[in-house]
Amino acid sequence: MTPSSPRPSSIPNERRSVAVLGATGAVGQAFVRLLENHPWFELAEVAASERSAGRVYGETVRWVTAGHMPADVAKKTIVACDPNAVTADVVFSALDSSVAGEAEMAFARAGKLVLSNAKNHRMAPDVPLVIAEVNPDHLRVLDAQRRNRGWKGAGGIVTNGNCSAIVTSLALAPIQERFGISDVFVSTMQAVSGAGYPGVASLDILGNVIPFISDEEDKLEGELRKFLGSLGDGEIVSAPMAVSAHCNRVAVENGHTVCASVRLRERAPIEAVLQALREWRGADVARGLPSSPERPVEVLDAADRPQPRRDVSRGRGMTVSVGRTRADTLFDVKLVAMGDNIVRGAAGASILNAELMVNCGLLPR
Ligand code: NAP
Repeated sequence: MTPSSPRPSSIPNERRSVAVLGATGAVGQAFVRLLENHPWFELAEVAASERSAGRVYGETVRWVTAGHMPADVAKKTIVACDPNAVTADVVFSALDSSVAGEAEMAFARAGKLVLSNAKNHRMAPDVPLVIAEVNPDHLRVLDAQRRNRGWKGAGGIVTNGNCSAIVTSLALAPIQERFGISDVFVSTMQAVSGAGYPGVASLDILGNVIPFISDEEDKLEGELRKFLGSLGDGEIVSAPMAVSAHCNRVAVENGHTVCASVRLRERAPIEAVLQALREWRGADVARGLPSSPERPVEVLDAADRPQPRRDVSRGRGMTVSVGRTRADTLFDVKLVAMGDNIVRGAAGASILNAELMVNCGLLPR
């Protein structure tokens, strides 16, 4: 993606230096690609494990993401994920969760703003878990986080969600906002790229469905409620809804599909639900940013859509496609949603959150 939207007038001309932690992995590579020619951010440093540190990025990384490796990044020397080795004040984290917890805290403690893809801090009540168009007001909990944890200056952790939770939350946000939701039953079909590289062994996944992804159901159930929750006194209060999730890995390269059945708080005809989905554009403050899609949610009318192969690139990977919206015999409404797990579900979501923070005056200058 080459972000091309106009710069809001409040944005300074100089590009802000940023770093990517875990830059060698699947999500890290997506950051590298999406940050190429970004109008507001300049990728100054790439960091990874001690195994990669000191080596040249282009000679170390097995490039598995779409498009080419940017030539200037290919020449960079990888640094260690140590706040003393990284000079940028803003860091995107695509670290493996086995190390992200401690590493991200060390960066925040050192006064750096961390925008994280890892699961470790997402559910802490004083950590914003943000989808720019859905709950930008949750960023305000950062003040409490800094007070609670004694972070200096601009230090802090802002997270984006699990990939299937982001797709589900975007599809359900217009319904929650208009009618309220009391119960959700959701079943996922998740792409292999969601497992990183090399991910699931080909002999396990080809011609197969694996009905288990470690921790995924807990993440989807908890994060959906937090995304759709509200800002309390120094903490985020999860939405009072019951959520039950089944998560499955399927032989799709990219694009997570979710089938959801929803019980509404305020009963409504299916036409009204469809209208809410069609009209929704998300929070004003998240519109017109370099990574904002024109439509965060796009309703597809064809009976056999969305499909990962045909719809995953809508909105440069930032649009969640919704189809098959119809009355449900057990609950009120059922639908199918699909989104790019690497762009909307990970790196693109993080970059959009950073743009949102610039737009709100919350990023260090
Ligand atoms: P990945 O391909 O396995 O990449 C992991 C990255 O972490 C690599 O850059 C690796 O560096 C680095 N790393 C591993 N151990 C380290 C250590 N001890 N110290 C410093 N760096 C270390 O994983 P991924 O799929 O990109 O996922 C990255 C994160 O994003 C995970 O937390 C994942 O749960 C989350 N996420 C992924 C998706 C998705 O669709 N893939 C979606 C949402 C969120 P080396 O190359 O040097 O080992």
